[in-house]
Amino acid sequence: MADSSRHRVVVVGGGFGGLQAVQALADGPVEITLLDRRNFHLFQPLTYQVATGALSPGEIAYPLRAIFTGRENVRVLLGEVARLDLDGRRIELRPVAGVSVPDSLPYDSLIIAGGSQYSYFGHDEWREHAAEVKSLESALIVRSRILSAFEAAETAPDPDARSAWLTFVVVGGGPTGVEMAGQIAELARDTLEGDFRSIDPRSGRVLLIEAADRLLTGFPPSLSARAAQSLIRLGVTPMLSHAVVDIDAEGVAIEGHGDDREGAGQRRRRIAARTVVWAAGVAASDLAAELGRLTGGELDGAGRIAVQPDLSLPGHPEVFAVGDMVRVRRLDGSVKTFPGVAPVAMQQGRHAARTIRARLDGRPTYAFRYRDKGNLATIGRGAAVAEIKRLRLSGFVAWLTWLVVHLWYLVGFQNRVLVFLRWAFSFANHGRGARLITDPVAQAEGRPPRLDLGEAEAQDLRRPGERQRASGPPPAK
Ligand SMILES: Cc1cc2nc3c(=O)[nH]c(=O)nc-3n(C[C@H](O)[C@H](O)[C@H](O)COP(=O)(O)OP(=O)(O)OC[C@H]3O[C@@H](n4cnc5c(N)ncnc54)[C@H](O)[C@@H]3O)c2cc1C
Repeated sequence: MADSSRHRVVVVGGGFGGLQAVQALADGPVEITLLDRRNFHLFQPLTYQVATGALSPGEIAYPLRAIFTGRENVRVLLGEVARLDLDGRRIELRPVAGVSVPDSLPYDSLIIAGGSQYSYFGHDEWREHAAEVKSLESALIVRSRILSAFEAAETAPDPDARSAWLTFVVVGGGPTGVEMAGQIAELARDTLEGDFRSIDPRSGRVLLIEAADRLLTGFPPSLSARAAQSLIRLGVTPMLSHAVVDIDAEGVAIEGHGDDREGAGQRRRRIAARTVVWAAGVAASDLAAELGRLTGGELDGAGRIAVQPDLSLPGHPEVFAVGDMVRVRRLDGSVKTFPGVAPVAMQQGRHAARTIRARLDGRPTYAFRYRDKGNLATIGRGAAVAEIKRLRLSGFVAWLTWLVVHLWYLVGFQNRVLVFLRWAFSFANHGRGARLITDPVAQAEGRPPRLDLGEAEAQDLRRPGERQRASGPPPAK
């Protein structure tokens, strides 16, 4: 039973930042409400494995309620922020998927960890054609698109159509793009070998388009080069110094002058490709813009709000923002942008929680300091790159490190065991057990699957509360 006399903390977002904040507060003298528009914590670093059939959704997501079973002072609420009333110290809520929520939530302290979303550099019309692996739903859409492309190629009437279906374009050569491209290549070359009769899946082309002159710009150049070599060995074509300038249902237009194996020296050209995966720009959650409007906090080009050194909001010491949606002002007044990775969000979530507890105990509080434990990216089976302090690893050792780290941080013992077993099987037999073409929208609405599901519908899925209002309640099963 909630104790109304205790300090009330509301945490928005059960992702990496929010979850750590709740865990660090849960044994304190506080009443916590964790609000999320999803009823699960999603391990985003592995959504690309769902998108390529290596893992199933339930293996990388964990119900938020289950994490806090037995924690009487933690309440989990399924709902969405409709409005922040910082002066009145309350959040107005709106329902998700027709599940009613209280109109508003009062708080004494508030932690906002709303994360980020992909940005299409001002070309929102590209969303319809370039799917992404940010959410579980969008990863399932990518999975359906990739697998249906092979199905369509099998029955395509002419070589041009077949080639377009067997061309996969991944936009963005950061960790997600590299991982995605490597996985599609493995799917085509290893997993699907022998599954089709008219086509050879191994003839599929995977193009990884990156505007910079190297992949993985967050890593040292030597590891970028190793990653590029590993990808080429897998059958991926990295196209460096190339920018995507248009995307439609039939393919992409690119501009560049880089030296690549698809034709060096050309300036602008079109690539016929029926499957495009977007892994490029990232923009902060809309909640950052709302906080900026309410507090006058500075926003950068990616929409991240600058928070105070202790992660609180200017003029509102009781409100904290953490994770992908923030930059942090240093004590000298400059603003630091941390990489948009899970460890930053986790450490910031814990820091905000500790600051609240210190204030309640009358102890001093401190500025946030990030402890950088390293950087990892996997390329494919047995291949990865890792930078841990001064240590630079590549190949199998880096891959093992990547594997252990990801298993360690995966939420839920059962998920760790299941993912480990899946990876062990895949390593031994090149298999991918979850190669299913599904249409989550159709499932929800009780109609047959549509395979060319657009990103507009993925967007729709991301905001179930809004979809509900637009289309009325889903038919009873
Ligand atoms: C494909 C992909 C691969 C990645 N790989 C890696 C990796 O290998 N290593 C790494 O360290 N990082 C990786 N990252 C980055 C990492 O996932 C993020 O940095 C991290 O998730 C940020 O944590 P967060 O708490 O800020 O946001 P999130 O973890 O995104 O959590 C935000 C939460 O807020 C909820 N929410 C948002 N808005 C609202 C609202 N209005 N109302 C209610 N709830 C709301 C969301 O449902 C979500 O649960 C990857 C990201 C992606 C997309």
